[in-house]
This record gives sequence, structure tokens and C-alpha cells, in this order.
Amino acid sequence: MHRMEVSENHPRYRSLTIRERMAELVRDGVVAETGLIAHGRGEAFDYLLGERTIPEAERAEKVAAALMLEAINPLISINGNVAALAPLEIIALAEAVPALMEVNLFHRSEERMRKVCDYMEGKGAIGILGRSPDARLEGIASGRALCTRRGLYSADAVLVPLEDGDRAEALVKAEKIVMAIDLNPLSRTSRTATVSIVDEVTRAIPNIVRFVGELKGRTSVRKELIDQFDNRANLISVGRRICENIRESLGEDKG
Ligand code: ATP
Ligand code: MG
Repeated sequence: MHRMEVSENHPRYRSLTIRERMAELVRDGVVAETGLIAHGRGEAFDYLLGERTIPEAERAEKVAAALMLEAINPLISINGNVAALAPLEIIALAEAVPALMEVNLFHRSEERMRKVCDYMEGKGAIGILGRSPDARLEGIASGRALCTRRGLYSADAVLVPLEDGDRAEALVKAEKIVMAIDLNPLSRTSRTATVSIVDEVTRAIPNIVRFVGELKGRTSVRKELIDQFDNRANLISVGRRICENIRESLGEDKG
């Protein structure tokens, strides 16, 4: 198999090795071909953020941790890209909360469902839902509406890393608390979610795990965090920061 030679000192080493890994998982049928395109869009936005967790993202991650702990039936939705990028991080979060995990694919086929579930289980996940859907979400096209009654259908708070806008909207309409992880602050997903985490998924999830640890058993702190959070204002602040980053990177004076 083709393997790219790239030095660890290369400034884009991490990005390049992740791309190689994603391409490999396309060959294995875990990642959809179009998942690579979605990844590229994410990378472009990460460049604009400076490839780091910005304070607005950290704030949203803390609120997401609080919401997951406050939820009755919290759930983490998993697609091919998320399984490829952050399988162990997802499992750690599911255990920390604890939350259920359900595989939901944009390009759904029985075979890919099986492959993504098997892949997660190979990484140590227990009780992954999604192989046998027995419920439907209202308001989205057939394949993507399928879910499990015990999982997504009954969940009151759902973490959706890299979700499509249509499904994010359907989840909000179903009166669920939707926590999105999406590097694009302008996506429909980011603009419809209850909490929009504009951060790279492999940075975002470990941060949420850390905040879950900090907020365990502190109900009043959690409630205060949730009450004080304004998602729209936070997204506006992300936009402002991106503009500042661009100006600074190009050496423009701030004044
Ligand atoms: P929407 O449907 O919400 O308007 P979209 O159609 O532009 O968004 P999709 O392909 O539906 O995008 O979803 C992929 C989203 O995931 C993109 O917005 C992209 O920025 C984001 N994304 C891709 N890779 C990552 C990553 N590693 N971490 C976080 N977000 C990512
Ligand atoms: Mg979309």
C-alpha cells in the first residue's frame, strides 16, 4: 500500500498523517469518500482558528459537559469521520458521563453501519447502538431518519460531532438539546445547535471529558454555567476572533 514519507518536524505532519489514516479508512469502508471532503472543509476552518482551542470553544465545551451531566438520557452520535478521528476519546467520554453511543451515518448502508460499529468495538466500545434501528426521526430523508428507540429517539441531550445541518435541525425540532462539534461557525449545524463547539473533534472531546470530571457532583455550578451561556453571542465572538486571527497572521495593525 502507498505510504507517504513525511518528517515529524514538518509543520503539517499531524494533518498529513491524519489524512493518510482517513484515506486508509475509506479503503476499509469506515469513512465515506465524501467524508474526506468534509474533513478538508474542517481543516480550512481550523487554519483560521490557529489550530488551537479558542476560549469560546472551551466555554462551549464546559457547558456541553454540564448539559450531558444534567441530562436524563445523554447520547453521543457517531459517524465514520468521528470513528476514524477520535474513537478512544469518544469511548472515554461515554464512560465518564456515562452516555450511550449510537452510530448514525449520512451515507447509510447496512454494510457501512456494521463496519463503523465493528470498528468502534474493535477500539473497545461496549454497547454501541445503531445496527438494528427500530425508530425514526421526523423531518429528514428516509435513511438518515433511522435510529434506535433506546438511543437517539429517547435521548434528551445529544452530542453531534460533525453533523449535517438537516439532521441537526431535525434533532432540535424533536426538542432535544443538541451539542454540535463543528469547525465551521457558519454551518447550519453550528447555527441551529443549542451549544456550538467550534473546535477540532480530537481537541474538543478530551476537553469535554476533563470538564465532566470537574463538574461531577456540582449541580449548582452546572446549572449556573448553563443559565449564563448565550450560544449566539458565543458564535459571534468566534467570528470576531477569526477575523482578528486573519488580520494578525497577515501582519495588519490592530488599530
Ligand atoms: P451544514 O450541513 O451544517 O450546513 P456542511 O454541509 O457544510 O454543513 P457537512 O459535510 O454536512 O458540512 O458536515 C461536516 C462539517 O464538519 C463541516 O462543517 C466541517 O467544518 C466539520 N468538520 C470536518 N472535520 C472536522 C473535525 N475534524 N473537527 C470538527 N469539525 C469538523
Ligand atoms: Mg451538510
